[in-house]
Amino acid sequence: MDPIPLVHASLGKLELAAVEEVFASDWTAGQGPRGKALEKELAELYGVGDAVTLSSCAAALHLALLALNVQPGDEIIVADYTFPAPAHAARYVGAVPVFADARPDTGTIDPRAVADLIGPRTVGVIAVDTVGLPADYAELQALTGRHGLFLIEDAACAVGATYRGKPAGALAPIACLSFHGRKGITSGEGGALLAADPAIGADVRLRSSFGIGSIFDKSQLIGLPIPEFTEIGYNYKLSDIAAAILQVQLGRIGELLERRNTVAARYAELLADEELLTLPHVPADRTHAWQSYLVALDPAVDRAAVAADLRAQGIGCGHGTWASHTQPVYESKQTCPVSADLFARQLAIPMHAELTVDQAERVAHALRTALRAHVGPKPRTAVAAAATTASPHENQEGTS
Ligand SMILES: *Cc1c(COP(=O)(O)O)cnc(C)c1O
Repeated sequence: MDPIPLVHASLGKLELAAVEEVFASDWTAGQGPRGKALEKELAELYGVGDAVTLSSCAAALHLALLALNVQPGDEIIVADYTFPAPAHAARYVGAVPVFADARPDTGTIDPRAVADLIGPRTVGVIAVDTVGLPADYAELQALTGRHGLFLIEDAACAVGATYRGKPAGALAPIACLSFHGRKGITSGEGGALLAADPAIGADVRLRSSFGIGSIFDKSQLIGLPIPEFTEIGYNYKLSDIAAAILQVQLGRIGELLERRNTVAARYAELLADEELLTLPHVPADRTHAWQSYLVALDPAVDRAAVAADLRAQGIGCGHGTWASHTQPVYESKQTCPVSADLFARQLAIPMHAELTVDQAERVAHALRTALRAHVGPKPRTAVAAAATTASPHENQEGTS
């Protein structure tokens, strides 16, 4: 049978045609005509003060912290259950990442954990829209506002998601997007920073281009003004080749999201009654972008054996995301039990815009069979039991 990949980027003829146009033009590097047009389109789409295209979401997080003037030794509260880019970004600027545990039902950062961690050295919070599901921004905005902290939305996985009618990427004063090949829209690698305050955007744009600004712009001037370096900036620019691809992808957000929604709905139908699984929970006030589809296996199931069975049939799968605080590089002494539990039990099953309903059915069937084959007598833990309840603010004993 045909393999069913875990992920697949939807790039085709339209994107190729856009790239051909760049090849025929005189400018392929960053901050050129395509990149500038994409920045305008992003700012309009999200209704923000400024959008800066960058080489990655990690670059966006790094420059956001520089623009916010974070100092060595400052503490930044970061979501724990995530690809650990937010904690890495804290470390880029010498700050201390403080890990906030997850809501058991959604995996997103728990605002109550954030409240408990705010201390005299806390300067801000980086929330994450976990694998495409927005976090609790009403609570996070209130909390950061009350304590005078910055709030950054890491919306790397969440292009197309919404929270209370607003798009993910516009849920905090600063948001960071990723256009990595495994995200909702992509140019292979890429990212963007969205800022309510245009001054933040200008600062980030300058630092993304060696501290000199757009060489393309300068080349358009009459005469020979010699640009000056005013910052030790980085080279975090997005090439105009990637920008051209993203201009096409931006127009396809709705189409690609609809296809992932169809797959997610089919999985939900096929797996809803499977007692050895907990399916993703989407609170009524938000929508999911389905960057990944994560199911939590009952603690009595041997996840590695299930994954091996699926892979042996050509079905891609992986662990969910990371319990950041457990990663050796941070040498953290914190515990985040909910995040650690999700890290131990979640499994990513194939999710992308080109998955067919037939393939989704094959995945669901293979998963059910593998669960039955690898269920043992391990007892259910209290945290696991809490994770199967829908309400975030009950059954959180042992969370903090
Ligand atoms: C993928 C991801 C990133 C990193 O994005 P890059 O564009 O690869 O730097 C950051 N944060 C989260 C939550 C991610 O999932």
